[in-house]
Amino acid sequence: PADGQSPPWYPTPQGGTVTQWSESYKKAAALVEKMTLPEKVNITTGTGWQMGLAVGNTGPANNVGFPGLALQDGPLGLRFADNATAFPAGITVGATWSKDLMYKRGKAHGKEARLKGINVLLGPCVGPLGRMPAGGRNWEGFGADPVLQGIAAAQTIKGIQEEGVMATIKHFVGNEQEHFRQSWEWGLPNAMSSNIDDRTLHEMYGWPFADSVKAGVASVMCSYQMTNNSYSCGNSKLLNGILKDELGFQGFVQSDWLAQRSGVASALAGLDMSMPGDGLIWAQSNSLWGAELSKAVLNGSVPVSRLNDMVTRIVASWYQLGQDDKSKFDGEGPNFSSWTNDEIGLINPGSPDDHDKKTVNRFVNVQGEGDEAHSTIARQVATEGTVLVKNTDGFLPLSKDGWPADQNHEVNLRVGIFGEDSAQNPKGPNACPDRGCNEGTLASGWGSGAVEFPYLIDPASALKKAFNKDKVYVTDFPTNTPPLKQTPIILKDQDVCIVFANADSGEGYMASGGIHGDRNDLFLQNGGDDLIRNVADGCGDGKGSTVVVIHTVGPVILEKFIDHPNIKAVVIANLPGQESGNAIADILLGVVNPSGKLPYTIGKSLEDYGEGGQILYYANGVIPQQTFSEGLYIDYRHFDKYGIALTFEFGFGLSYTTFEYSNLRVNKVLEKSALPAARPTYGIEPPKYDDKIPDPKEALFPSGFKTLKKFVYPYISKLSDIKQGKYPYPEGYDIKQPLSEAGGDEGGNPDLWNVYANVTVDVKNAGSVVGKEVVQLYLNFNDVQGEARDVDFPDRVLRGFEKVEIQPGDVSTVAFNLTRRDLSYWDVVQQNWVMPTEGTITVRVGASSRDLRLTGWY
Ligand code: BGC
Ligand code: BGC
Repeated sequence: PADGQSPPWYPTPQGGTVTQWSESYKKAAALVEKMTLPEKVNITTGTGWQMGLAVGNTGPANNVGFPGLALQDGPLGLRFADNATAFPAGITVGATWSKDLMYKRGKAHGKEARLKGINVLLGPCVGPLGRMPAGGRNWEGFGADPVLQGIAAAQTIKGIQEEGVMATIKHFVGNEQEHFRQSWEWGLPNAMSSNIDDRTLHEMYGWPFADSVKAGVASVMCSYQMTNNSYSCGNSKLLNGILKDELGFQGFVQSDWLAQRSGVASALAGLDMSMPGDGLIWAQSNSLWGAELSKAVLNGSVPVSRLNDMVTRIVASWYQLGQDDKSKFDGEGPNFSSWTNDEIGLINPGSPDDHDKKTVNRFVNVQGEGDEAHSTIARQVATEGTVLVKNTDGFLPLSKDGWPADQNHEVNLRVGIFGEDSAQNPKGPNACPDRGCNEGTLASGWGSGAVEFPYLIDPASALKKAFNKDKVYVTDFPTNTPPLKQTPIILKDQDVCIVFANADSGEGYMASGGIHGDRNDLFLQNGGDDLIRNVADGCGDGKGSTVVVIHTVGPVILEKFIDHPNIKAVVIANLPGQESGNAIADILLGVVNPSGKLPYTIGKSLEDYGEGGQILYYANGVIPQQTFSEGLYIDYRHFDKYGIALTFEFGFGLSYTTFEYSNLRVNKVLEKSALPAARPTYGIEPPKYDDKIPDPKEALFPSGFKTLKKFVYPYISKLSDIKQGKYPYPEGYDIKQPLSEAGGDEGGNPDLWNVYANVTVDVKNAGSVVGKEVVQLYLNFNDVQGEARDVDFPDRVLRGFEKVEIQPGDVSTVAFNLTRRDLSYWDVVQQNWVMPTEGTITVRVGASSRDLRLTGWY
């Protein structure tokens, strides 16, 4: 197809073709076989916005004992829930580079969801990937690199799903900015189109989804905007072709909330569940499915086989996660309401007819206790996700006892804490709905990906507690105004000044401080830059030392102060969640040695991120076009390609100790070969049903059925609603697509996941304190020969990382596995992953993307 166009890919591959899922599919088939048409439709269609206690609710199939499912945001905790943990955001998790913490946070999150009666968690998020540093929702994901995102997502999914909760990987795909993601928020007839070429889709935006499918994720959420000028939730190439054929996805595709823009067409394109079930307009319940899907099946527009596959995929996912086990899932649904904090309330507040109040909030505390307290994990993620980027002459850590013992000071150490971002919002941490304002200390971005804080430990309070009161005077000035220049006395009286500033963003349905989701620039907000400079100038009458702490949703420009001589240390604390203050106190006082690394590049200006790094703020057509012409070159790949100077590179972060790298070994495990082994056939057949169009009477409202206005039902009112006729299938429906050679199993061709080389390296802690190092492995394909020589490759691409704790003086051997996929590029002509076989692939290992210490070859 032409650039920016999406080719047809039909029909939808059926689920139930891989060993790992075959038991669940068998069980599912036994249920689905017995379901009536309305029961099947019920399972595929949400009941409507605010119809049910969760943000998404499906109908049950009562006769066969299949419950309605509850779907709840989001990626950092349980949205709208009480007594649940507000974990650090994805971007902070990415900054830990700790597979262990990624997994543990996922597991705790999954457990909370299960105990609150949620079947499907609407996270993790890997799209946006972070193409544009100002993208409003980048903080929900793990950082601006597909490998970092993919590993973090897989670990998170593993954790969530081990608790029996279905994870959802979102948003598939290309939802890189908030502006124009859908039409109605922006007053446009259509959403924008993200135009992504085939190679870029495979190597960048699709990559973390492949990891997620490989990890067994139960659900994929398709995104709002168009991809290559076809709505993502009706894009047959994406859903049928890439996801279900090539990646072998066995779970179900759900739409983002109202991202479904067609009825029959989306069904044929591979959508399996319509969320929240409303039609084209929010809360109007003119569902595109529900009764319309019943009709479409009855008049032959949607093959019964397609409906059966949708339902089987959903029911199989439920079995796959063990949700039929009553000892884990009581099947009673959520024990909290998204719509009220009162104990008694409506189940379906979206309907004007619902007057039936019930107990909706049972206030179940799911935060864990003692050794199992989830706050411990939240705190550890926040601490390890804090990145130290400047530390002149080892100024940090501070001692809780003030001046070092060898110095004779007449007065105790005086520490001043400055900035609104150091303190609690006086109106409370949940003052603004969905955290849609930037007041007080910033610990989360805003939108559906935010939660209610059970508490929020602010930095000023935690620091005051952490210092020894007998030896250190701590005073706090939690304001950005009046300008401290006018009140220099406050600053003059300090020896050390710790100044906090921040930058916030969020989802596009809300705006705050003139920010409509996507940031307008990369500067600190609320006067942060001025505040920092004033503090640094005036602290101790110009002789004091300043420490800067930044809470942020992503890269911020540091140029206005980073080289200020009085600024001794700068810490990027990302979005730390409820344990914010404890985490920053641990780092500043050296209770924990910093080990976070930047999950994105901090450039010197927004322009430096290149054309591809810019949000489209003004619609450039009736379908705004955002063409990803920079291809693979986002974030560090862009800075490296053009040799652009930057402030701090992707993967960078300091420690209170130093690490030495030696002895890199690259061991060949398997011989190189250009193409993966042939696509396997396991001979596992999807369930077979008779696929006959059922008797239309089956779909009629049962007699005496009481309906609620606006509630989405699967039933039809009269048989004459079924208009027989020949309905044309979408263009290209008859073209039989060849199965992808890159496919064959869950996550794609299994050979792609075979290890072809392993790499080991020795890392020594050469300092005097224990520390954790994030050892990073990057590949360079520039010494390849033969045909691959003509392929354009970035200078370096991340392919692995390991975080290790090393005692002072000790050496740790760190090992990496390189899979076939790691060592390949996507060949658009062969439509397969190709490993360059002539020449060598360069393996570089080091402490950041620009601090590669050792080199080897495969
Ligand atoms: C967001 C999704 C979210 C859904 C349900 C949408 O607006 O894009 O990420 O899961 O709402 O709240
Ligand atoms: C809802 C969100 C949803 C958004 C989408 C909001 O009103 O609370 O869940 O993501 O609308 O536009």
